[in-house]
Amino acid sequence: MQSNGSPPGHIVIAGGGSAGWMTASILLRSLGLAGSKITLIESPNIPTIGVGEGTTPLFKRFLKFLGVSEEEFMGACKATYKHGIEFPGWTGRKQFESYFHPFAAPSYRHFEQQFFSNCDRRRKGEYADTDPSNFFFNSELAKQCKAPVSGQSRNTENMDYAYHFDTAFLAEFLKQRCIAGGIDYVVDDITDVAVAENGDLDYLETSSNGRLDGDFFVDCTGFRRMLLGKVMDSEPVSYESRLFNNSAVVIRTPVPEEGDLPPYTESTALKCGWAWRIPLMNKISWGYVYSANHTTTEEAEQELREHIGEDTGGIEPLHIKLQVGRVTEHWKRNCLAVGLSQGFIEPLEATALGLTQFTINRFVTYFSRGGFRATHRGHFNDIINEAFDRTIDYIQMHYKLNTRDDTQYWRDCRANENITATMRNIIEAWQDPSADFMSVLKEEVHRSSYAPYSWYCILSGMGCYSRDPDGTRLDEPVNPYRDEVNGYPGHRSYLESLQIPLQRTAS
Ligand SMILES: Cc1cc2nc3c(=O)[nH]c(=O)nc-3n(C[C@H](O)[C@H](O)[C@H](O)COP(=O)(O)OP(=O)(O)OC[C@H]3O[C@@H](n4cnc5c(N)ncnc54)[C@H](O)[C@@H]3O)c2cc1C
Repeated sequence: MQSNGSPPGHIVIAGGGSAGWMTASILLRSLGLAGSKITLIESPNIPTIGVGEGTTPLFKRFLKFLGVSEEEFMGACKATYKHGIEFPGWTGRKQFESYFHPFAAPSYRHFEQQFFSNCDRRRKGEYADTDPSNFFFNSELAKQCKAPVSGQSRNTENMDYAYHFDTAFLAEFLKQRCIAGGIDYVVDDITDVAVAENGDLDYLETSSNGRLDGDFFVDCTGFRRMLLGKVMDSEPVSYESRLFNNSAVVIRTPVPEEGDLPPYTESTALKCGWAWRIPLMNKISWGYVYSANHTTTEEAEQELREHIGEDTGGIEPLHIKLQVGRVTEHWKRNCLAVGLSQGFIEPLEATALGLTQFTINRFVTYFSRGGFRATHRGHFNDIINEAFDRTIDYIQMHYKLNTRDDTQYWRDCRANENITATMRNIIEAWQDPSADFMSVLKEEVHRSSYAPYSWYCILSGMGCYSRDPDGTRLDEPVNPYRDEVNGYPGHRSYLESLQIPLQRTAS
């Protein structure tokens, strides 16, 4: 086995969900080009998790890395654009019933400083417009239901936006490309995983194809964690004391015949969790992520159906148990876990595929520097753990700041003192009018994947102000990008012009 950065002779990827095919795609263009043979095996009997339709702007970079055109991807995967997330119902505070967390590339944030200084004035008790929707380009694109392509050009290089897509179509799309690119594809069940005397993984035993040998193995078997589980020697870290949601129910409805498709995710707080609405070109996806310690499966399903607000009687729901946490050694010996097998943070900010992508990219970098050397694995695992843990802070902030009083669930979330020092310092600095909040923020979140503007958005959007302002504003605030955005094409009509056919199914 190699000890330097030369690629493994044969890499075996177990699992053909989003994580498996994203791993195969990236490895093919990196270690594959450097000489590794790559095989992906997936079960004909064990389905993929089949949800995960929301992304972050990192996914745009994934497509670019692969050299995939956006139109081709969007057409194949029934994709829509996503400019951010709307959060209705997370607080009971008047005038803070809902807020929008946009994506925002640096070159589209000309009014960010004004937003910051307005928030700082408001923290001191002065009246100022602090609604994040009024300062960012993507917020206005979302509000006007626009595609992020200007009438004159399709140059979206400097813009930040993401996509919603159908995960089953994504897996198929990436699979076809990987097979055409030369990977070996095996459809079979892994029945056992053999460990060699030195403790490395040796081979996979399969139902119909016998033994599948490899030099390096990537575990993309989802919550089953079939490969890493054989070499792990510590229990996964659970996040359940910080994030209470441990179940989900999903329902898909047909795309409405009329009307636009919102180019954003809506994440509405319900009684014991929150529900997403994600519009795709072939269905609308709805899911309720909730705490089974606070409600039952039946009640959650019923609440989701009521929230959808149309007749969903004939549509079968999908119920999912979530394992919320992460392993400590994502890369152990000659095995790397990617996707649900390495860990899962609930999907409030749709971060899972971004963490998947981050893991594979980092692995390629570290592997190229040091091959199988233990020190490189150690650094790598520290970085991935930090990426997971820092993401949690931002997610948990939504729960900690809620002001709902209708159920025990929301009271428990608010009362939960199991928060990090980073979260505590941020909340305290925000609520102290004399604090230089930006300095505190920069100190606390310089390694977070959430930029300062995202923290301002959540704290201001959820109305985390300790007192009412003096005075009121008379004019209705207007987003300064309003007229510019007006010239952008409508979301649905633009997608239809790409000949992405609408399919009105509910499956
Ligand atoms: C409710 C919910 C909502 C989510 N929403 C989002 C979101 O909006 N955005 C986001 O980025 N992520 C989201 N995620 C996470 C996202 O779905 C996953 O990160 C992603 O789908 C990757 O899953 P996976 O490939 O790791 O596992 P899976 O999809 O479970 O795939 C596992 C694969 O392993 C194979 N396998 C298992 N056992 C064997 C065996 N014995 N032999 C052979 N093959 C085997 C299976 O056949 C399958 O191909 C969500 C997850 C959940 C649960």
